[in-house]
Amino acid sequence: MHHKKIPMVTDKRIALVAHDNKKRDLLEWARYNRSLLEHHEIYATGTTGETLIRELGLEINTLQSGPLGGDQQIGAKIVSNEIDFLIFFWDPLEPQPHDPDVKALLRMAVVWNIPIACNRATADFMISSPLMNGGYIRLVPDYDEYRSRRSVKNGGLATVSFTSGF
Ligand code: PGA
Repeated sequence: MHHKKIPMVTDKRIALVAHDNKKRDLLEWARYNRSLLEHHEIYATGTTGETLIRELGLEINTLQSGPLGGDQQIGAKIVSNEIDFLIFFWDPLEPQPHDPDVKALLRMAVVWNIPIACNRATADFMISSPLMNGGYIRLVPDYDEYRSRRSVKNGGLATVSFTSGF
């Protein structure tokens, strides 16, 4: 499969999401890494964002609360190249009402090849990577072949074809 090159600039657009039992973890991580985070543009789901604003005074673009659609809003921003990477502390021990959205968000991060950290250790490695302080060319699979695949329609084969931003 061919790839398309999507440039990431030095100041990244970072999405932060934490399930309730993981909010303390994310808060501690963000407090520790505050100076590294500050010059990036931060997005967060509703309650996660409000917690970080209240406790750390960070400037954050807050979206809906996760179970009310916030995860899907972040997923949509990944698709339209408005988010460069995702820190998503999801809870492995509690069922979530919006489990399909959680899965969808994780899936979009993989489809569009954005870095994603699901626990503190990975987030530590990511935020301290030398790649954080410079540009980066993200390779995204060229999905044109997938878009123009042939599908069965009206009893015959039809070509599915549409355009996208990538
Ligand atoms: P919240 O959502 O930040 O509004 O709690 C997090 C999530 O469950 O996705």
